[in-house]
Amino acid sequence: MTRCGVVALAGKPNVGKSTLLNALVGEHLAIVSPKPQSTRLPVVGLLTRADTQFIFTDSPGLLEPEYKLHETMRAAALRAIADAEVIAYLHPLAAFPAPDLLSVARLEKPPRAPVVTVYTKADLVPPSDRPTVWPSDCVVSAPRGEGLDRLLDTLRAHLPESPFHYDPDAMATQPMRFFAAEFVREAAFELLHEELPYSVAVEIDEFREGQEPVYIRAVVYVERASQKGIVIGEGGRTIKAIGQTARGKIEALLGTRVFLELHAKVLPKWRRQLSSLKRLGYAG
Ligand code: GDP
Ligand code: MG
Repeated sequence: MTRCGVVALAGKPNVGKSTLLNALVGEHLAIVSPKPQSTRLPVVGLLTRADTQFIFTDSPGLLEPEYKLHETMRAAALRAIADAEVIAYLHPLAAFPAPDLLSVARLEKPPRAPVVTVYTKADLVPPSDRPTVWPSDCVVSAPRGEGLDRLLDTLRAHLPESPFHYDPDAMATQPMRFFAAEFVREAAFELLHEELPYSVAVEIDEFREGQEPVYIRAVVYVERASQKGIVIGEGGRTIKAIGQTARGKIEALLGTRVFLELHAKVLPKWRRQLSSLKRLGYAG
C-alpha cells in the first residue's frame, strides 16, 4: 500500500522553509531571499519516492500582522498547518532550542497533526558547537543535502496509507504563470533594496505558451509613483535587470526560451486594501 499526504513546512520567517522545499523537491520552485517574509502564498512541491508521495506546502512565515497583506499571509500559514497530515516545524539549529510551535504560531490549541521539529541551517553551526537534539527531532542543511533522507523517513511514518494524489513525475501543482509571477518577485527581492521589495506585487497579463519563445507580459506593481521611478531606474536599467534575472529563472523551470516583457505601474496602498489583495491573488 502506498502512502500520500500533506507535509506543512512551518516556522518563523527566514528559518529556511522555502530553501528546504526546493532541496526536497530538487527544483527551484519557492522563492528564497535573505530578506524575511518573501513568501506570500503557499507553494506546493511534490516528491514521490518509492511507495510514498509527499505533498509539501511552503507557507508564509508565522508573523505578527502589521498590515492587511500580513493578515492574509498569516491566515494562509495557519490554514496550511490546519490542513496538514504532518507539520515540519523548522527552526535554525544556531538558535536551539526551538520554542513551542503553539507559542510561535499563537495557536489556541495544539494542531491536529503531529509535529516534527526540524533544526535547519546546520552548516552554520560548527560540529563542536552542535547541541544535542531530541532523538525524535531532525537536523538538516539544505545546501549540503544533509539530513534529508532521515527527515523523509521520519515524515513518511506520519503519512496515511493512500493512493498517490498526483502523477509520480510531477513536481508542482500550480500553473506556470504563478511561478512566472513569483520569479519576477524573487528578482525584485534580489535587485531592489531595503523596504521596496515588500511594496512589489506582480500580475501576469499575458502568458502565451505553445510557441518558442514563450511570451509573457507582466505588470510590476508598486505603491507610490516615487517607487515606480526606482523600479524603472535610469533609462529603464533596473526594470531591465529584473526582467533578465526573472527570465533566467522562468526558462530554467519551463525548459524553453522565454520572452518576458515587464511594465511598472502604481497600485496605491495595495498591501492595505482587501480589493487589491484579492485581485493579486493574495486574499481568498
Ligand atoms: P523562509 O523565509 O523560511 O522561507 O526562508 P528562506 O528559505 O527564504 O531562507 C532564508 C535565508 O536563509 C536565505 O538567505 C537562504 O539562503 C538561507 N538558508 C536557508 N536554508 C539554509 C541552510 O540550510 N544553510 C544556510 N547556510 N543558509 C540557509
Ligand atoms: Mg519562504
